[in-house]
This record gives sequence, C-alpha cells and structure tokens, in this order.
Amino acid sequence: MDKTYDILQRVFGHHSFRANQEEAVNAILAHKDLMMILPTGAGKSLCYQLPSLVMEGMSVVISPLLALMHDQITALSAFGIKAAMISSMQSPSQIQESMQACRNGELKLLYVAPERLKGESFLNFLQSLCINFFVIDEAHCVSEWGHEFREDYRQLFRLKHYFPRTPIAAFTATATKIVEHDILHQLGLSHPLIIRAKVERDNLNIKADYRNANGREQLLSFLSAFQNESGIVYTLTRKETESLALFLEGYKVRARSYHAGLSTEEKNETYRAFLNDEIDVVVATIAFGMGIDKSNIRFVVHMSLPKTIENYYQEIGRAGRDGLSASTLLLFSASDIVEHKRRISEQPASEYQKVAYEKLEAMAKFATSQLCRHQQIATYFDDTILTCNTRCDNCVEGEKQSVDISNEALKLLS
Ligand code: ADP
Ligand code: MG
Ligand code: ZN
Repeated sequence: MDKTYDILQRVFGHHSFRANQEEAVNAILAHKDLMMILPTGAGKSLCYQLPSLVMEGMSVVISPLLALMHDQITALSAFGIKAAMISSMQSPSQIQESMQACRNGELKLLYVAPERLKGESFLNFLQSLCINFFVIDEAHCVSEWGHEFREDYRQLFRLKHYFPRTPIAAFTATATKIVEHDILHQLGLSHPLIIRAKVERDNLNIKADYRNANGREQLLSFLSAFQNESGIVYTLTRKETESLALFLEGYKVRARSYHAGLSTEEKNETYRAFLNDEIDVVVATIAFGMGIDKSNIRFVVHMSLPKTIENYYQEIGRAGRDGLSASTLLLFSASDIVEHKRRISEQPASEYQKVAYEKLEAMAKFATSQLCRHQQIATYFDDTILTCNTRCDNCVEGEKQSVDISNEALKLLS
C-alpha cells in the first residue's frame, strides 16, 4: 500500500490517484483478471505501469500502434523505468538484446506487437520467463463489433491457452456492451473485475444542427465565442481541412490543417504548436486522434456527420479534459449520409458492411433526434442517466423546426 503511493509520487510525480485508478492497480496487485473501460486521457497506462513497478519481475504489454508503444517506452525511461519493445520496428539483433534483457530480469515492462503471438517460438520464449500479468491496451481492437478491429489481435486468445494462470488486464476507451462481451470472450476472461467509468461527460455542452448552404458561416459564428482558445474542427476530407484552415486564417483565426497525407514532420510540428498554444485551431480529419493529450481544448466541431457514435464520442471527448466547461458542435446534412454510404459500399461486402450501416444509422438518428444528447450517448453505451436539462441543445432549446430534413435523412438510410 505505502509502496504504491510512494511509487505514484516519487516515480510518476502524481500527488494522488485519479478516479478508478487505485481500484485497477489493486486488482492487478491481487492477481485478478481486469477489464477497464475509461475515456482516453483518463490515465489507463498508470493502472498497469504502477503495479509493474510494485511487483518483482516483469509484465508484458500488447499494443496496436508502434508509435504508441514507442512513446510509452520513451516516457518510462524518462522516469528511470526499464522497458523495451519487440515489433517489426526492431532489427533482429535489437530483438535478441531485448530478449536477453528479459532473461536477465533487467526489464519491468516488455511491449509486444500482437502479431508476435502467432509464432510458437516466441510464445515458448515468453513461457520461459516469469511474467506477472499481461496487458491488452486498446482492447476493443480484438472485436469485429468495435470500430478499430485488427486482425492481429485475434491471436490474443492464445494467451489464456499458453498462460492459464497469468492474469490479463484489458484496457479500452470505448466499448458498448456487445464489444465488452466480445472482448471478454475473445480473451477468455471468465470472471474479471470490470471497471467502467461513467459515460457522461458533464462538463461538455453538446449541440447538433443542420448544416446550411453556408456551413462555414455557422462555424464562424460558433467560433466567435472562443477567441484565442484551443479547439479542433473535424472535416471529412483532407482537401477540406486545408481549404477550411486557410479560410479561418482569413478571419484571423490561428488555424492549421492536419491529415494523414502530411509528412510525419509536418504533423508533429502542428501537434507541437497546438500543445504550446502557438496555434488555436487544428482543422483535421479523423487522423488527428489516438494519443492526443491536451487538457485545455475548449471546443470540438464536426463539419459533417461522423460515421459512428463511437468515433463521435471519442472526438468530442478530447474537449474539456481539464474538467472545465467545453463545447461541441455537430453540423450535418443529408449529403453526409450519402457520402458515408458510398464509402461503406466501396468495402467488400461482408458482416463488417452490415455493422457499418447500422452504426451510421445510429449516428444519424442521434443527430436528428430531439432527445437529450447526453442521455442518447449514455443509452448507446448501455448507461442510464437522467436528461441533462442544461447541457445540450435539445434540453435547452426544445423542439426544432427542421424536422423535414431529419425525415429526409432517415429516408436515405432505409
Ligand atoms: P489513457 O491511456 O487513459 O488515454 P494515459 O495513460 O495516456 O491515458 O494518461 C493521460 C495523461 O494523464 C498522462 O499525461 C498522464 O501523465 C496523466 N495522468 C495519469 N494518471 C495521473 C494522475 N494520477 N495524476 C495526474 N496525472 C495523471
Ligand atoms: Mg492509453
Ligand atoms: Zn440534454
């Protein structure tokens, strides 16, 4: 107990635990299987890094993105914690070196790319070590019902076969009940402790509105309340991020675009400038996502309908991480649905396509519905809450007039 607090403060430099963290740490220290559902930025990494340090020996972390693993190892080494990673990014000799460090008991955390678990010899190597627990980060990637399914995560079912007595701790930011059950099933977790944060973000003001012919004017009028404050504006296409950023600059808004077509240097530079408040607005595609860690984002705008509520909730969730009030605006029109349907239809016909249509339909219903926005999101994620009364457009403004468009939108879906 004391050791836990000591490491929290001395090694990580945090005064206290945040909500849910201590419970998760204790579960891992008690050798339980764990499933934790907590929003991005809430501090899930600490929940497994801290027990790794409290225990003798090492733990193994499976993570979907090489860049995320790399960032974590860099951050850990700044705290003086020995961690390494085994993935396609390392040369064979680097991998040998890391494996030797594991055998010598020199590492606290080993980060492993999921595809490594395909190989019998690598699994045998892991069996030869004394591993306290496995961590599955971004665990929703194991489920086809989630929004970021990764084929390689399917290998993870092997862990419980090869290591029946080693606990597994799975972490994710968003999981509906279906995805949650699927994760437990895929990983073979029969009686895990489940820690689920409440879905509602009560410091967010949520608003959705039809985008008229002059969507940019609607954006400008929204932005006028946020001078010199940080925000993200999401658009559907790369080209639109660039032209909209230029447009905003014309109105003296310090804006820059961000999308997957830019070089790594350009992207890093934009993110750095945003973190340091040298620019206020990032106009981005959904490529501006995982790993964004800025606490004072005051607004998030969607210039068109996101493709799922999962995406939408994650994207608006980047606002107000500091707990202070923040605002979100969703602008949408029936044409967005047409565009998403076109994109989905380009995928090979599959179960995935069917799920994608269903998720799009839920998103469109959310946008056009007259019910409390917070309540709708909570319901979607199987949480039950009262209407917010003061923090969404539907509660504050009541009935909207443009029901026609909503009928049109819903017709397009059927
Ligand atoms: P997640 O994986 O849930 O998205 P991270 O683990 O990346 O979140 O943590 C997000 C940020 O929160 C990090 O900058 C981290 O240092 C910070 N953080 C985590 N736990 C605490 C704490 N107890 N006190 C203060 N800051 C914390
Ligand atoms: Mg994380
Ligand atoms: Zn409401």
